[in-house]
Order: sequence, then structure tokens, then C-alpha cells
Amino acid sequence: MEKILFDTHCHLTDEYYSRDFEGFIKQIEASPLRFVVDIGTDLETSERAAENADRYPFCFAAAGFWPGNTTGLAEADFEELRRILSLPKVKAVGEIGLDYHYEDTDREAQRYWFARQIGLALELRLPICIHSRDADDETLRLLKENGAFSKERLACFPARADGSPDARVLLHCFSGSAELARQYVKLGADISVAGPVTYKNARKTVEVVESVDISRLTAETDSPYLTPVPLRGQKNMPWYVEHTVRKIADIKGVSYEKAAAATLANGMRFYGIKEQTEAGRA
Ligand SMILES: [Zn+2]
Repeated sequence: MEKILFDTHCHLTDEYYSRDFEGFIKQIEASPLRFVVDIGTDLETSERAAENADRYPFCFAAAGFWPGNTTGLAEADFEELRRILSLPKVKAVGEIGLDYHYEDTDREAQRYWFARQIGLALELRLPICIHSRDADDETLRLLKENGAFSKERLACFPARADGSPDARVLLHCFSGSAELARQYVKLGADISVAGPVTYKNARKTVEVVESVDISRLTAETDSPYLTPVPLRGQKNMPWYVEHTVRKIADIKGVSYEKAAAATLANGMRFYGIKEQTEAGRA
């Protein structure tokens, strides 16, 4: 099986996979996936994602407080996050951001801890995975205000092959407009495309893929959520990222192999994954 796919955002720690976790891992190993990034949403899932990354050569981890999990956080929790971020193969701060979908969440806590975690990523020179739902303007504003696209930040990472700046900011499951995507790309960010691009009502996200260069796109599942067509209705699996990559290929008018290679290369650049030194256990 040729290993050509990278699922840049999934949740291996989800309860759904725990029923037969070893069988699930074997399925990943037998699939075309070369890498996955297991994304934390609180301290427990971040720690377990780091353990998965330590255990499985194909797995890397991100650690952070998802916006809905920021209420009541204390400084000690933040310090614990800092510790997890220092573990080997923990490659990014995430998923962090703002989620204004539900009215009854503590938005002030979301904004405060989002800002603090951006600051931590700057301090530790780590990539940032963003979750933004119904909060387009505020997410961009807080990223800017807290230095995610500052000169200092851009100086931390090598420029891209085309010479443009690299802020190592990835907009997970991007749901904004093509105009907003172009704005992010100009600032040095990358856009991650998930299963919804395959849905019938996906016009907006299709336009995003059309208007952003393929070198700025990554593919993800956000599994077990957001299952792509034609498997919609089932629980999502990391290797279903194939269907999102096929859709990207379709929209871009390139072969599936070319879209797979581009999204794999961009994911590796974003997370700083180097094949020989880190794909195996060091
Ligand atoms: Zn997620």
C-alpha cells in the first residue's frame, strides 16, 4: 500500500475508537495514510495524544484547550499544557480558537485563553491549529493582536519555496469565505479542508479551494466527526481523508496523486515533520 495521505487533524482519543483501539490502529497502518496528527482538546486528550504519538510511528500530536474547554481554567492547567507541549512528537498548539456557535458559553474565557495559548505558541515557536466557528472576525483579530503574524513570528520559520512568509498557522476545517481565506494566506497561514467540502451545499468551501493555491492546502478528517461523502452517515475514520483529497483534486483539476502529494508535503512542512529522523522512533 502506497503511503500517500496525511490526515492533519483527527481525534484518535475519541471514545468511539476505544472499543477496539488496536484493531483501529491496524486499519490505519494498512491504509494509504502516512501520517496523522492526533489533536488534543483539553489536558487529558492532549496527554493521550502525546502518548499515541510516542507509541505509533505514523502519529504526531497537538496539544491545547479547545475553546469550549476554557471555562474555569487555572494557571496550573496552563503550566501543565506547557509541559505536554515539550514532549517529543508534540508538534503544535491546538486546537485553539473561538467557538461562538452556542450562546451559553463563556466567551470571555475563550478569548482570554486563546490569547494566552497564541502567546505560548510564539514563545515555544510551535505551529498553531485554529478552531473557529461563527467567529471569523474575532479569530482573525485575536491572532493579529497577539502576534501570530508578527515579524518576530515570521522570522521563526523559513520562508516557503516561493519566498512568501510562513506563520505556521493552520485554519482547521476552514468554513469562512474565499475572501477570508485569501486574507489568511497573504498573512502567511494555511487552509485545512475537511469532509464538508464534499457535501452538496459546499459552494463556499469549493470557492475557497478554487481561490487558494494548492501549496497552501492541507486535508483532514476531524474524525470521528464530519464524515465525507460518499460515507456520510457513518462515523468518520482517518483514512477517509482520501475522499477529501479526491475532491480537492477535482476542484483543482489535477490528478488524485498530485493532490495527495501536495497536501502531504504541505502538512509535513506545517508540522515540521522530517521523514527520516522522525517517522520512526528515535
Ligand atoms: Zn477537531
